[in-house]
Amino acid sequence: MPRYRIEYIRNKCIGAFACVSMDPASFAMNDDNKADLTNARKEQRGEDEVWIIETDELGSLVQAAQACPVNIIKVVDTKTGKVLAP
Ligand code: SF4
Repeated sequence: MPRYRIEYIRNKCIGAFACVSMDPASFAMNDDNKADLTNARKEQRGEDEVWIIETDELGSLVQAAQACPVNIIKVVDTKTGKVLAP
């Protein structure tokens, strides 16, 4: 199992694009003014559309999650269950 899981609640994105400037390798601006999480799978949780990636390399994902003004990017250590960000 990859070491980290990133969960991004895309429908709650307000288009501030802090994530894109912090981690352009993982986040990109979309025409609907929300950020896309690159290569994510999508999961519907109630009313939320959660985009998920699992990876062993964090890169700048923690910084991106911390920069998001609405705290909708979560970084979890899958080994310990600890939430690393936001
Ligand atoms: S920083 Fe948060 S609100 Fe801004 S584009 Fe990224 S996910 Fe959306």
